[in-house]
Amino acid sequence: MTIFLNLKEELKREPFKEFFISIPLKDLDLPENYYLEEKNIDVKLHLLKDKDGYVITITLNTTVNMSCDRCLTVFPQKFEFTESVLFTKKLPKHQELSEEDLYSEYLEDEEKFNLNEFVREEILVNTPMKVLCKEDCKGLCPYCGINKNEESCDCEIKMRGKESPFAKLEKLLK
Ligand SMILES: [Zn+2]
Ligand SMILES: [Zn+2]
Repeated sequence: MTIFLNLKEELKREPFKEFFISIPLKDLDLPENYYLEEKNIDVKLHLLKDKDGYVITITLNTTVNMSCDRCLTVFPQKFEFTESVLFTKKLPKHQELSEEDLYSEYLEDEEKFNLNEFVREEILVNTPMKVLCKEDCKGLCPYCGINKNEESCDCEIKMRGKESPFAKLEKLLK
């Protein structure tokens, strides 16, 4: 189910508002490497009326089970961030945004703000380029497929001896 916020209505009487909202992880439509179990994600939202639109600040402090890019083990990936985005109908006045400028996005409908899409995007942006169960994950052996964090094998030594012409060179040079 998609949650829509009526920003106009939410900020009718006050210039800002802060609240928590729970969204089922399954409703976020995340890619396959996110393990979509039955679980809610608690999101802290801060809505602020701005002359050009609405500044929405999201704070997330949770874990989502993900599969490691190297060893494929499912592990809890931490998500701990706060991001502010200006949603506006106006295009930025200056083409060049300075670093202090808020990241801005086009606001389609202030009465129907798609919260799921926003949370999804922020999770994607805050996912590391390489998702690793631990920084020094050794991954899977490309020859026998064992998880090298848990077991060891001598495939690489064997293969190096057989295939590489450099192995022969190495011996000659010694
Ligand atoms: Zn791993
Ligand atoms: Zn192996």
